[in-house]
Amino acid sequence: SKKTVFVTGGAGFIGSHTVVELLNADFDVIVIDNFVNAVHGSDGQAPSLTRAQQITGRKLTFYQCDLLNKNDLSAIFKKHKIDFVIHFAAMKAVGESMQKPLFYYKNNVVSTINLMEVMRENGVYNLVFSSSCVVYGNPQYLPIDEAHPTGNVSSVYGRTKYCLEQMFEDICRAEKKWNVISLRYFNPVGAHPSGLIGEDPTRAYTNLMPIIGEVATGRLPELVIFGGDYESVDGTGIRDYIHVMDLATGHVAALKKFAENPRYKVYNLGTGTGYTVLQLVQAFEKVSKKTVPYRIEARRLGDIQAMWGNCSLAEKDLGWKAVYGLDQMCEDFWQWQTQNPTGYRCHVEDKQLASFTDI
Ligand code: UDP
Repeated sequence: SKKTVFVTGGAGFIGSHTVVELLNADFDVIVIDNFVNAVHGSDGQAPSLTRAQQITGRKLTFYQCDLLNKNDLSAIFKKHKIDFVIHFAAMKAVGESMQKPLFYYKNNVVSTINLMEVMRENGVYNLVFSSSCVVYGNPQYLPIDEAHPTGNVSSVYGRTKYCLEQMFEDICRAEKKWNVISLRYFNPVGAHPSGLIGEDPTRAYTNLMPIIGEVATGRLPELVIFGGDYESVDGTGIRDYIHVMDLATGHVAALKKFAENPRYKVYNLGTGTGYTVLQLVQAFEKVSKKTVPYRIEARRLGDIQAMWGNCSLAEKDLGWKAVYGLDQMCEDFWQWQTQNPTGYRCHVEDKQLASFTDI
């Protein structure tokens, strides 16, 4: 029979793309979002999810709900028979997390505790969690695999992810019913190939691809590259960029694993290939036929030199492998950006580069 998936933060970038794949895989989907990091339509709905329904020709159920509001959360769990939970909702800006640690611990850790308590009260024990390769800290070897030590993390954001991973391990050890799968994402980029959904930062631009996009469209004068003296072919930092649609299928693959009562599992989701900042810029220029002016400045505090994943465990255990390459990541991002120059918002003046002080 049809299974129901409850998705937190499902209106956001990775969430909305995963919702598309869940609907395509014939799951019933219930989404919550608090609209802190996702665009809120004037009709009270999320434009990203309206379009997810348009892409798939299927319907989902949406509630505006904050995980810190346990009563609202309980009411939703009482109303539906939920089989699986995919938990995307979190604050994710590394710089901001250093300034507002209590806010980050509350929003990332307390919210997850609320979620798991409500899950348990309602007999739901299968959870997929959005983790990150930041839990590895500075790599001791590359490509990095799941056996690499974790915990030596330099940002508060990263420590909230690490903290939660530890919590899952403890809970799954103590209570046999629980199954938790942490997916450690590398650098998510790209957009749905339809050009209808994509990344639309509501608060501030910090990730490389959206910033390159702003430069290519002329809204930002140039890209500032943080560090030109790293050990790489061109001196710029190396990351494992992964197409958001590959991440989406990774979540659907993880759900199948629950049939085996896996307890606690951790998987890297990346392509296994690292590219420098300049290689990404060059691929983007080729695909968009725009020039992306850049200036090389000092290294960004806390940045690591190089990070790419060994993702063979996900292939072996989940039957999942990334299939999109760098050009496709740039092409799909660029299509999303050119078709939606102001993202999900209708007016250019709405799309201000908001600072972090407004919350
Ligand atoms: N980066 C950059 N300029 C920017 C934003 C990012 O040079 O304006 C670099 C950054 O130093 C890193 C890569 O791009 O090498 C990816 O950075 P991002 O913030 O997207 O992801 P993360 O650092 O979390 O891997």
